[in-house]
Amino acid sequence: MVDLQQRLADQGVHTVLAQFTDMHGVAKGKYVPLAKLPELIETGAGFAGPSIWGTALPRTGPRAEYYARADAARVQPLPWMPGYARAVCSGFVDGQPFEACPRQVLQRATRRLAERGWTLKTGIEPEFFLLKKEGDRWLPADDADRLDKPSYDLKSLPRQAGFLHALHDALEKCGLHVLQLDHEDAHGQYEVNFAFDEALASADHLMLFKLAAQALAEERGMVFSMMPKPFANQPGSGLHFHVSLWDEAGRCVFAPEDRSGASLLSATGRQFLAGVLAHSPALCALAAPTVNSYKRLVVGESLSGTSWAPAYIAHGPNNRTATLRTLPGRFEWRLPDASANPYLATAALIAAGLDGVDRALDPGPDCTEDLFRLSPREVQERGHGLLPQSLEQAIHALEADEVICSALGGTLAGEFIRLKRLEWIEFARHVSDWELRRYAAAF
Ligand code: GLU
Ligand code: MG
Repeated sequence: MVDLQQRLADQGVHTVLAQFTDMHGVAKGKYVPLAKLPELIETGAGFAGPSIWGTALPRTGPRAEYYARADAARVQPLPWMPGYARAVCSGFVDGQPFEACPRQVLQRATRRLAERGWTLKTGIEPEFFLLKKEGDRWLPADDADRLDKPSYDLKSLPRQAGFLHALHDALEKCGLHVLQLDHEDAHGQYEVNFAFDEALASADHLMLFKLAAQALAEERGMVFSMMPKPFANQPGSGLHFHVSLWDEAGRCVFAPEDRSGASLLSATGRQFLAGVLAHSPALCALAAPTVNSYKRLVVGESLSGTSWAPAYIAHGPNNRTATLRTLPGRFEWRLPDASANPYLATAALIAAGLDGVDRALDPGPDCTEDLFRLSPREVQERGHGLLPQSLEQAIHALEADEVICSALGGTLAGEFIRLKRLEWIEFARHVSDWELRRYAAAF
């Protein structure tokens, strides 16, 4: 620890950002002088528990204090903030791991895998918008970004090359290996991919990505947005997870036993996949946790032709129209959107997958069709369920799903359901411009 402190001091660090993640997937924390790093690692920095979303902690007594305790393996200087290092923290209360800290929830889930000798690896792919606000209107930051089909647009991409390169550079300096950066399917929408890693590391990396992108966009007068669907007529932002399972010998547990190519996944992989399918309605609450999320998870045309977001509970080889796209030895979970808390979404995914393995579930036949072309009736005939179509439906499904709720733990599940239901009610009671346009003078 003295070594770590000295190393940071040698790199010019004077302050540590003690950073944890709240229930909504938002980074929170405080600045701590570097000299206090040993206490930050041993005891943690103290916060008023009830001031943090989703803790349900009391205002008085020993449990009123939330301690964000640094993970010594995740302390790193922040390239865009010279003199500052970020320390990733987990929550502790009254000297014990805090059961409702999202990072602790994921650590509990990965321990369940470790008991079987397994490690889950994820590659999390953030899509996001760069926006600006003009009066009451939110617009793509780049006025010239207006192609009819903006996917892979090489006219607009160079105009954000400065931002994208600064982000790339910052992530690389923090040890993330950046794989690609592109323009996505909506105006002002981009995607940055970095290498896959163990589930906890990937979630920590995603939070670092969000911190970096927000700071670098703000420096350039832009708003970095992980809102799932800012524009009704354009695609939303997904947060796809590439998922694979590994054993202690470093073998991929999802790799098919038969190498003929007839199957993309092993028997265990198929059972895990089946568990994710079976729990999809409840998983929606964690993977698509906002009112706005459900404007993304619909079948419908966008300006660019298709939204590429799933609406049906199905799996298929390289099928981007299904919730689960299977690939050799892994699958892509296409349900999550950019507003998901990566710790909670991963923990829920693990619980669903393990339930599939424990019950030896069968995912059913591959779906090789373009689901976006089928009518709702044809989808039903093929036996594919529809994902929840609102936050209210998803919360209801979560409440009814004991496997996912118990993985979250009673406190977090209870707070998540309570707060998200309030979010839904607030939305439902709001009178929108659409309603006024449609009804004000109609009757
Ligand atoms: N933006 C799409 C989504 O919301 C995904 C596009 C893609 O496959 O890259 O899921
Ligand atoms: Mg994409």
